[in-house]
Amino acid sequence: MATWDFLVIGGGIAGVSVAAELAPYGRTLVLEQESALGYHATGRSAAIVVPNYGAPPLRALTQASLPTLLEIEVEGHLLAHRKGSLMLELPGQEGVLQASLEDPDRQGRMHEVTLDEALQRVPILRREAIVRAGWEPDVWALDADGLLQWYRRRARAAGAEFRLNAKVTALERVGDVWQVTASGVTEQAVTVVNAAGAWADTLATRAGLRPLGLQPKRRTALTVPAPTGHDVQGWPAVIDLGETRYFKPDAGALMLSLAEETDSPPCDAWADDEDVATAVDRVQQIADLPVDRVISTWAGLRTFAPDRVPVVGWARDGEGFLWLAGHGGYGLQTAPAMAQLAASIVLGTAPPEALGIARVDATALSPGRLTPGPEPLRASA
Ligand SMILES: Cc1cc2nc3c(=O)[nH]c(=O)nc-3n(C[C@H](O)[C@H](O)[C@H](O)COP(=O)(O)OP(=O)(O)OC[C@H]3O[C@@H](n4cnc5c(N)ncnc54)[C@H](O)[C@@H]3O)c2cc1C
Repeated sequence: MATWDFLVIGGGIAGVSVAAELAPYGRTLVLEQESALGYHATGRSAAIVVPNYGAPPLRALTQASLPTLLEIEVEGHLLAHRKGSLMLELPGQEGVLQASLEDPDRQGRMHEVTLDEALQRVPILRREAIVRAGWEPDVWALDADGLLQWYRRRARAAGAEFRLNAKVTALERVGDVWQVTASGVTEQAVTVVNAAGAWADTLATRAGLRPLGLQPKRRTALTVPAPTGHDVQGWPAVIDLGETRYFKPDAGALMLSLAEETDSPPCDAWADDEDVATAVDRVQQIADLPVDRVISTWAGLRTFAPDRVPVVGWARDGEGFLWLAGHGGYGLQTAPAMAQLAASIVLGTAPPEALGIARVDATALSPGRLTPGPEPLRASA
């Protein structure tokens, strides 16, 4: 049996991007249980890049990813477009805008705007429903599938192989390699990368390793027709700073979400009718948006570590087993930095200078922070 250098489990943005970074350095195989890449969280995101979203390590990862996200061109088209975002403070949330304006990480990137200015940008907003508004210019709409396919092409060009309908059902460390069985076929690899999204803990358990306490949380989204007489394409994202709702333009329509985080087992998540109705209701509380029909609904799982910071690093209890998981609601906007960091850990090299990854504290991302114990184990070959 030939031995793969790198066997990546999971064909979402995490798995495909790390495969692209590793493939130039060794034989790389990606196993995906579904019949298409990006079937789960990656294909169900809101595809927004918000640099000031999340805890400090996430902001550093997003900053380090921005140059890549903003430079990628596919057939003459950039994958990211600056849209900006209106950040709203609603009744009952008093103080959140001030806290954001005074946040040292945010200063200079967000300023307060009058409600008149807010309404100029998004005329359907209901003035009486908003307490204060901030304008954050550095928020981008991202072509999420374009990013996934860009990484897939890079991985393929460097020799990586992709197998779909390949669900990993068994993993065992035998001597100095992993034996990994997917859909009845057993492969052998020096290094396994666990990029299984909502299933990352399940997979580790299957390998006989300790889970990290990752929790998938469902989030629902839907699209509705743009309000009559409005060209919404130039509108920014509208986000409530209390994270109870947001909406944004989406291919000539509007995408809405109630920004919920409902604990879920790993599964093919679906939109609950009640959540869809709640999302419409909450957006209608702040905007004059008649909804006589819904174009599409979906839900996806955002998977969080207990401290809501992603995980990248060697397992403490499994030689040659790398965690790349817990991407929460930030997996697309942090993908370039996370993939390069993961590859540098696997290859034992320093992450590229240009990445600004020096601002990212690798120990804050390591699985060891969640499973105290002996030093992590790396692959022996
Ligand atoms: C509604 C919503 C809005 C979001 N908005 C944003 C946003 O605006 N910006 C942003 O950056 N992020 C956003 N996210 C988060 C982002 O989508 C995720 O962080 C990211 O997609 C996670 O990527 P992943 O590769 O880790 O997971 P996934 O895309 O879920 O990929 C994991 C893959 O592993 C496969 N797998 C699992 N177990 C096995 C097995 N045993 N064998 C083989 N394959 C297996 C699964 O089939 C799956 O395809 C959003 C998410 C949701 C749901």
